[in-house]
Amino acid sequence: MYVTFLECSRCGARHERGKLHNLCRECGSPLLVRYDLERAGDTLTRESLCGRVASLWRYREVLPVTDDAAVTTLGEGWTPLVHARRLGERLDMSRLYLKDESMNPTGSFKARGMTAAVSMARELGAERLAVPSAGNASGALAAYAAKAGLEAHIYMPRDAPPVSIVECRQYGADVVLVDGFINDCGRIIGEKKEREGWFDVSTLKEPYRVEGKKTMGYELAEQMDWTLPDVLLYPTGGGTGLIGMWKAFDEMEELGWIDSRRPRMISVQAEGCAPIVAAFEAGADAAEAVARPATVAAGLRVPVAIGDFMILRIVRASGGCALSVSDAEILEDVREIGATEGIFVAPESAACLAALRRLLGSGSVGRDERVVLMITGSGLKYPHLWSEPS
Ligand SMILES: *Cc1c(COP(=O)(O)O)cnc(C)c1O
Ligand SMILES: [Zn+2]
Repeated sequence: MYVTFLECSRCGARHERGKLHNLCRECGSPLLVRYDLERAGDTLTRESLCGRVASLWRYREVLPVTDDAAVTTLGEGWTPLVHARRLGERLDMSRLYLKDESMNPTGSFKARGMTAAVSMARELGAERLAVPSAGNASGALAAYAAKAGLEAHIYMPRDAPPVSIVECRQYGADVVLVDGFINDCGRIIGEKKEREGWFDVSTLKEPYRVEGKKTMGYELAEQMDWTLPDVLLYPTGGGTGLIGMWKAFDEMEELGWIDSRRPRMISVQAEGCAPIVAAFEAGADAAEAVARPATVAAGLRVPVAIGDFMILRIVRASGGCALSVSDAEILEDVREIGATEGIFVAPESAACLAALRRLLGSGSVGRDERVVLMITGSGLKYPHLWSEPS
């Protein structure tokens, strides 16, 4: 509501608010939304949140939409922060928490990004939206576009989870299957968008999805009584949620809600597609593209992330790390979380538990620390990963 301008995450160039933008016009990097937090803080106080709507729109002042009529919501956000007592016991941890994003509309935290992106597209007059997606982003865009009465054009790799393909079609979207990876889908959209009049809502090529996802950071602080966890594990594809939460922490500090302490941010990837991990280990500032990404965790099958430099900067600044886990560990830990906590999680999310085991084993995470695993989506979208019931 109190947007002042959009700022390039790399070169700092300012871009005018109230206009459709993709990447920085100077250097082609992602844009981040800046707010007049002093004004926002007049009405948005920690106390004011009590009794507000139980969705991410409770943080209305630090979300980009100006016109209430443009807000397109299906009730996303304000998801439970679950104290994982039984899972914690098995790991000899007493303060393990799951942020259960599987409760979102369309079954993943992609809903957070898309409620913001579609609302802004509506406010700024875009009518045809296009996205490349390996799974959950497509369902979320299709649902919010349907709600808003906008067109959704979705390009998915042919090996995307079959449920996601069905789901998009039932939301009335135009779905095209591509023989390639998510970056190939992105390239096709890039080639066609001008001719077709599409607005590209690819993650971080569009400035508002990150704003929707940052609300996970606000919620964590609110649910932890205005403190942050010691360690936060995030399954990283494009990194939007990690970048968003870090931004939220800075905004909350500026609002005077939290101090300067931050969680150690752990970027988790799958062994078959771990560009951020490779760059982290090499001490590099940017990641190199993975040639043949392969993992059951479709949301982590992202060979190039345009926000790679921000992810790496955040992980290092927080004192965290990046690490990868195998598909076998991921599948085992889907069952472990299901059987201890009653949540059927997406494979991407189970990767966080596998990574936590490693970090506990090496001593980089203490068993008495406050640890949050981001449960980014529901396992119900991935029935193809399990063979017939036996
Ligand atoms: C998309 C997705 C991710 C990765 O999110 P990014 O913001 O791209 O890093 C993780 N888990 C699930 C379930 C996803 O759908
Ligand atoms: Zn720039």
